[in-house]
Parts: sequence; structure tokens; C-alpha cells
Amino acid sequence: MQNSYYISILELYQYIKVIKYYLVDFNIMKGSCFIMSKQNIDWSNLGFGYIPTGERYVSNYKDGKWDDGAMTTDSTITMSECAGVLQYAQTVFEGLKAYTTVDGKIVVFRPDLNAQRLEESAKRLEIPAFPQERFLDAVEKVVKANADYVPPYGTGATLYLRPFIFGSSSVIGVKPAEEYQFRVFATPVGPYFKGGAKPITIKVSDFDRAAPHGTGHIKAGLNYAMSLHAIVTAHAEGYDENMYLDAATRTKVEETGGANFLFVTKDGKVVTPKSNSILPSITRRSLMYVAEHYLGLEVEQREVYFDEVKDFAECGLCGTAAVISPVGKIVDYGKEICFPSGMEEMGPVTKKLYETLTGIQMGRIEAPEGWIREIC
Ligand SMILES: *Cc1c(COP(=O)(O)O)cnc(C)c1O
Repeated sequence: MQNSYYISILELYQYIKVIKYYLVDFNIMKGSCFIMSKQNIDWSNLGFGYIPTGERYVSNYKDGKWDDGAMTTDSTITMSECAGVLQYAQTVFEGLKAYTTVDGKIVVFRPDLNAQRLEESAKRLEIPAFPQERFLDAVEKVVKANADYVPPYGTGATLYLRPFIFGSSSVIGVKPAEEYQFRVFATPVGPYFKGGAKPITIKVSDFDRAAPHGTGHIKAGLNYAMSLHAIVTAHAEGYDENMYLDAATRTKVEETGGANFLFVTKDGKVVTPKSNSILPSITRRSLMYVAEHYLGLEVEQREVYFDEVKDFAECGLCGTAAVISPVGKIVDYGKEICFPSGMEEMGPVTKKLYETLTGIQMGRIEAPEGWIREIC
């Protein structure tokens, strides 16, 4: 009868999904995303938590090589109870964001530096490197496949991407695993600052983050596992973050658990600590470039003694999540350092840096060559 010529909305939806799969996942429709409609999410009120999205990229390493890799809808991993990652924490990761620019494009910020850094991190933990070109391709595939989860421009929300590699085969004697998995998933995250960027209060930690010649400069889960007790302790005492000093002398500023420091001197110079045990933040490197080339400020990367921190005019924490999070106060037991910028708003230079870099990211200000990778 008539009905046999008629397909339901549901069936139509299924057909479109299959077409999308071929067009997007096999890169036939290069340079475009296929979005039926954005997810029904209250973007501006999203927190920073894991929300599984549609598809993720997986490649496995076995017999000395990475396989071709593929997209999957499976958000779970099954592996040996004795896997290298579970027993000896053999894993490294990255974090970067995809977002919508002012002209409606979906882009990723400097993913080539994440690809490079993941390789550096992997080498230090005897994990086979994942080819950088393939890293970029995986990121692109994951963003395209989850384009409906990329928050709209102006919401402050972004699609956070988490690439990582872990030892998946069993090891009981201490040695590198023989098999690994590289995976990239995406999860939408809300704006870091809800209702303005209020300066935070941090304490000088009693714990050390990284040893000289240790693993502080790589992005590895192990550096975070050991920071948990320190951050829970700091929170319980009423502080937002920890400032770690160099483990050897405890006189020099290193970083916090997940962000680099940036200071502004009273005469407007931008200073960031130099140390082999600090994680080379891509945000911090970008901000230093912006300070010098966009704002015409003098910049300096050098050892920063804790004793001179009291003389700075402004202080901020740099990382992908917040770009810059202003610091108003640093407490070292009895001693309090209160920056002149106060506890109400970002200092003027910090603010200019923040606005310039976020302007570059969002397409309101022209970016340096190669900083913005357009996905679609
Ligand atoms: C990831 C990370 C940062 C920030 O790096 P970005 O590349 O700017 O996100 C800073 N410190 C540590 C310890 C980190 O793990």
C-alpha cells in the first residue's frame, strides 16, 4: 500500500547517519563538517567533567608497529589486569581544545605542538611515539565526528580533546609493555571563568612536584597521581592551588600542579620561570610570543627566586583550560604576598595578554602563521 513507499523520520535519520559516516569519517568531504544539529546542551553552564561523545579514535601498537587506526563508538577499554598502565603507570597524555571562531569555523589551537610534546613525553617513558602527522589526522577526525559537540561561538565553552598512549599488554617484572594503545576522545567543557576571572589564592606547597633530572617536563599521569594529595591538602586549608618550588634548593619557583607561572614586573616586563623540570606549556609559550610581538613588551625566561616574587606587580597561571588564571595572593605559612592587582580582577597586563590570546584563538585578531588549524 501507500505506506511501503514511506520512510519514517527515524529511518531517514539513520540513513543520514550512514551518509555522514562515509562523508566525514572517510574524509571524502575534506574541510567540512556534517552537523545535523548541535547537541542540546546548556553550553554556558557546563562544568569541567567527562561527558562521552559520539566517536573516538583508536590505534593499537603491536609487533613493533602502529596499526592503521579507526574511529569507534565504544567508550570503554578492555585489557589485561596486568597491563603496564595499571601496574607501573606507563602512560602519557595531551590536552587541547576545539572551538568555534567568530566567523563560525571549527578550529584547533596549535595541535602540532601537542603532537610534538606527546612524542617527547612518550620517549621518556619508553613508549613508542605516535607519528605526529597521524596525531593531527586523528585530532581532525575526532573533531569532525563530534562536530555537534563543539560549542557555539560566544558561549565560552569548548570541546576538550584528550589524546593519550598507554601500555596495554601485561608486565609484572618492571619493564616497558610490548603493546600500546593511542586514543583520542573529546568531551565538551564549560567556560573556565563563570562570571568573571576572579584572582585566586595559592600556597607554597610542602610537597615537591618534580625532581631535577626527573619527569616534571613531560605530560604523564604519574606527575598528577602524586600531586593529588598535595592539592586535596591545599583545598582543605582553603587554597585554590599549590606553588611548587624546585626540589633541590626550594628557593626557586617551578609551577603549579597543572599550569605554568607568568609574572609581570612593576615596569611591565613579562617573566616566566626557566627550569628543566617544568612542563613546557603551549599556552605560556604562546603568551610570551604575544607579549613580545603583539604587545611590544619585554619578555624574559629565567630562574625566578621565590624571594623576588613579592616584588612583582602581577601573577598568573597559564594552561589550556583557563588560558590565564590570575593569582591575587600567595601564602607561605605566616608570610602573605598580595599582588597590587588585588583580589577583584586581573591585573592590567595579564588582562591584555588574556584578551589578545583569546582574540587570536577566536579569530577576532589575526593569528601568527600556523597557530590555528581549521577543521571545517
Ligand atoms: C598541561 C600542563 C600545563 C599547561 O600546558 P598547556 O600546553 O598550556 O595546556 C602546565 N603544567 C603542567 C604540569 C601540565 O601538565
